[in-house]
Amino acid sequence: MAPPESSETQINPFKVSQQQLDEAAKVLQLDQATHELLRWPLRELHVTLPVKMDDGSTKIFHGFRVQYNDARGPTKGGIRYHPSETIDTVRALAAWMTWKCALVDIPLGGAKGGVICNPKAMSQGEIERLSRAYIRQVGRILGLEKDVPAPDVYTNPQIMAWMADEYAFMQGHNEFGMITGKPLILGGSLGRGDATARGGMYCLREASKILAIELKDTSTAIQGYGNAGSLAHKLGSELFGLKIVAVSDSKGGIFLADGLDYEKVSAHKRETGSVVGFAGSKAISNEELLELEIDVLIPAALENVITGSNAGNIKAKIIVELANGPTTPNADKILYKNEVYVIPDFLANAGGVTVSYFEMVQNSYGYYWEESVIYERLDKKMTDAFHAVHNAASQHNVHNRLAAYLVAVTRVAEAVKVRGWT
Ligand code: NAD
Repeated sequence: MAPPESSETQINPFKVSQQQLDEAAKVLQLDQATHELLRWPLRELHVTLPVKMDDGSTKIFHGFRVQYNDARGPTKGGIRYHPSETIDTVRALAAWMTWKCALVDIPLGGAKGGVICNPKAMSQGEIERLSRAYIRQVGRILGLEKDVPAPDVYTNPQIMAWMADEYAFMQGHNEFGMITGKPLILGGSLGRGDATARGGMYCLREASKILAIELKDTSTAIQGYGNAGSLAHKLGSELFGLKIVAVSDSKGGIFLADGLDYEKVSAHKRETGSVVGFAGSKAISNEELLELEIDVLIPAALENVITGSNAGNIKAKIIVELANGPTTPNADKILYKNEVYVIPDFLANAGGVTVSYFEMVQNSYGYYWEESVIYERLDKKMTDAFHAVHNAASQHNVHNRLAAYLVAVTRVAEAVKVRGWT
């Protein structure tokens, strides 16, 4: 039996990402220098940000930007605002971005940014000043040809707009392609809003074909009700008729055996700030949600929620990891043994970066595609990546996450070698 991990808070996501790479390097028999290079970020910038608060005081914030690897092209990755942000979380997320871009075969490397802050306790003015301060420090290493941020947890299109605007002042001209996930009016792409959830749904469709599972009325639970989770609720219902029986957010979860209606739950969340208390539903905890008697589980919140301690209790047949890093390496082994079909994070949630890449392309030639073109191209990228992973898993007889690493690391290692780095 796998040794239990002590507690969720003690699991270091960067160590997890290194451990995952080590496993792939072993199977691929990667040479020592390339393996060592890929274990570390190439560059990172730590910044300290003084921000004027509404009460007249000045508060000092700390932030990061990690450019993990740019062998395949300019780096790409979101910016996360979170009170418990750490440099190691950002490093892990930057590593996962590297593998993700390689897996969906877009010509980009991986990066990530973060600021330690609690945006829920800040006014819009304070968030704007913090966002502009971040770009004044980090902007020097950003750009369409260098490194392109996007939204992540607790950042959104409005924040991207302030950041694009601050960067435009620094450059003396608009350069919309320096950041993605922008509002449409500032060069955002159609289809970016729900791209992460949509990409995950395309993967779920492919998995259901392989496992011969009918998706209509399939019972599903979603942890996290932000951009990724709530839109998975919407699209899962719209595209396949999934029956979403449970959803949750940071305040807790709700369960309704007959299925939760997207419009009604999202209206309740808009009005009250949480899904909790939705009429007719039963309150459940975030931990209980994971272990429900369901067919499809969609973690769409934070990392390390499926661990060695609870993986054995998971009853879902398919897990679609819209969140980054929701499953620990010990949990992976247990899920594989129990024949749970995991669509790993950097495959399942790659729709976001894929449409962000489409946004960069549209920004660079100033010509914008129709929504149907975006969906079609996204579907092709996701479906190809899904089958590359599924085939690698069958060929090497390994779980899907390791298979995804085998595909992605092979591509990054090839670029590293052909450049002559190792
Ligand atoms: P978001 O800020 O829009 O939503 C986060 C959601 O998680 C909120 O509903 C919040 O209440 C909930 N949450 C926070 N802490 C929680 C906890 N302890 N338990 C349960 N729920 C909790 O963020 P998002 O953009 O939807 O991102 C969610 C996940 O998806 C993250 O792991 C992110 O890295 C990943 N992701 C997002 C995108 C994207 O395009 N938005 C792309 C790739 C990956």
